[in-house]
Amino acid sequence: MGKVVAIDGPSGAGKSTVAKMVSETIDMDYLDTGALYRAVALGLTGLGISPDDTDEKIAGALKTVAVSFREGKVFLNGKDVSGEIRTPEAGHLSSVFSARGPVREFLLPVQRAAALEGDLVVEGRDMTTVVFPDAWRKFYLGASVEARTKRRHLQLRQSGVQVTVEDARRDVTERDERDSSRSLAPLKVAEDAIVIDSSDMTLEEVMKKVLDAIRKDNMVKA
Ligand code: C5P
Repeated sequence: MGKVVAIDGPSGAGKSTVAKMVSETIDMDYLDTGALYRAVALGLTGLGISPDDTDEKIAGALKTVAVSFREGKVFLNGKDVSGEIRTPEAGHLSSVFSARGPVREFLLPVQRAAALEGDLVVEGRDMTTVVFPDAWRKFYLGASVEARTKRRHLQLRQSGVQVTVEDARRDVTERDERDSSRSLAPLKVAEDAIVIDSSDMTLEEVMKKVLDAIRKDNMVKA
């Protein structure tokens, strides 16, 4: 298994941007696990599965679902769904389905397999606690609700989704509440994670902090 840099945190904290830039800077692969959860939710919904269905029904449907993440894009049964998964509705559904056991069991090996191919920067909610508890470097990237609402609003608008600031606030707060309070793999700070509050930091400042911590002990090339 390659070296893993694991980053967890709530939605809108900037995990994807930071993880992607870090992976490019230190020449590692990048995996956005939220994109996998979103694609699975899309796949299940397309099969007529509802979040209220039984574990058996969800597990059965997952037998016909295949998801993968390659070069910044996410694929559902071979189709690129990178655009489709970015709506607030897809975010809501992914959060609801991700609390279900069969969905988490389904994605566990998919995520771990990504680290078998080489060094990996991976981000999500349970990277530092469940999927890669022995990760080489661990971070928890947080930010205030205000800062995360602002970023999510901008992000959605930039990708062509027309939402109000209130919609964006609801998107981050509802999901965070659910993701932090669920019984399976809830979002929490790992004991050995470096915690960064990015509320009042620029992207450059966050990047410097993360890269300084990664390069501590000089184990990767600059
Ligand atoms: O990161 P993103 O906001 O795209 O993730 C979408 C949803 O997928 C999250 O709200 C969370 O419910 C779920 N998720 C998860 N575990 C992960 C990554 C995402 O439960 N490792």
